[in-house]
Amino acid sequence: MRRVAVLTSGGDAPGMNAAIRAVARTGIDRHWTIVGVRRGYAGLMSGDFVPLGARDVGGIIHQPGTFLRSARAPEFKTEEGRERALFHLNREKIDGLVVIGGNGSQTGAAALSNLGVPVVGIASTIDNDLYGSDISIGVDTALNIGLEAIDRLRATASSHERAFLIELMGRDCGYLALIAAIAGGAEAVVIPEVAADPDSVVRELQDAHRRGKSHGLVVVAEGAEYNADAIARHVIGHQDRIGFELRVTKLGHVQRGGIPSVADRLLATRLAAGAVEQLARGETGTLVGLRAGEVAATPLAEVANRKKELDPALLEFARILAR
Ligand code: ADP
Repeated sequence: MRRVAVLTSGGDAPGMNAAIRAVARTGIDRHWTIVGVRRGYAGLMSGDFVPLGARDVGGIIHQPGTFLRSARAPEFKTEEGRERALFHLNREKIDGLVVIGGNGSQTGAAALSNLGVPVVGIASTIDNDLYGSDISIGVDTALNIGLEAIDRLRATASSHERAFLIELMGRDCGYLALIAAIAGGAEAVVIPEVAADPDSVVRELQDAHRRGKSHGLVVVAEGAEYNADAIARHVIGHQDRIGFELRVTKLGHVQRGGIPSVADRLLATRLAAGAVEQLARGETGTLVGLRAGEVAATPLAEVANRKKELDPALLEFARILAR
């Protein structure tokens, strides 16, 4: 009988619990023993393992975050840290590991795979910057929170004829901001992938005011060269040029805590079942993600240290639709 461990690592994402649950239950269905590792790679290095029976993963499918907890564990980037992890994996007689997480976590998984650990990754990050998956677990829920904020802010912005800078998460990737801006009908979007100086935002808002808009909504990615605070500092000096009075709203970690959407629960379940299948076939050293609507595996060596590029067609959309 196999002993498979599962952990969640890096930034938490809504749907991680659904993924843990599905790994446990699809594994148990194959008569495997499933164990959870608490606090990601930190728990792997300290040997923090807990049994995961079918009942232990009950009542969590709807909960955001991760009940196994997550951590950032810089020590895991060192050879010594990974040797400690290997020691505990061997002591627990683990013959398969599932890593649920984003870019950094899958880079760590690739390093473990290079040491001979049969590891399979599951694409999970709200930032959607993971190479090998068109969409990752947590993105849909985080997007909908951003969208709801935009919709709410539009109501108050229109009533007072104001402009808002709405800062969304995404680390150094503009995906969340761009998609929320398109779906939310924002007047402008500022993302790391496109050079934009604060004065271009002033001009966009000025132009929107001249075209007769009752509000100006600008979605700003937290990782943009000029974040919402930097743009606001610049705009304050040009308030009369714009026509709108300016306010700033930063969503921050609120964006992480949404109840996982149907799409995220389903994606988590499909990817987890795919990961268990990869382990069963012995096709390890891979990341399981969604490509062209299908569950697909990509070698971790290709995924590690690589960032997914943003689709330029989406950027063009945002520009045209803001008219
Ligand atoms: P995410 O997985 O959400 O991108 P991080 O970038 O913080 O989150 O990575 C999570 C953890 O993965 C880190 O704390 C570290 O333990 C591990 N990790 C990140 N980068 C590497 C690396 N280059 N080599 C080994 N482990 C890594």
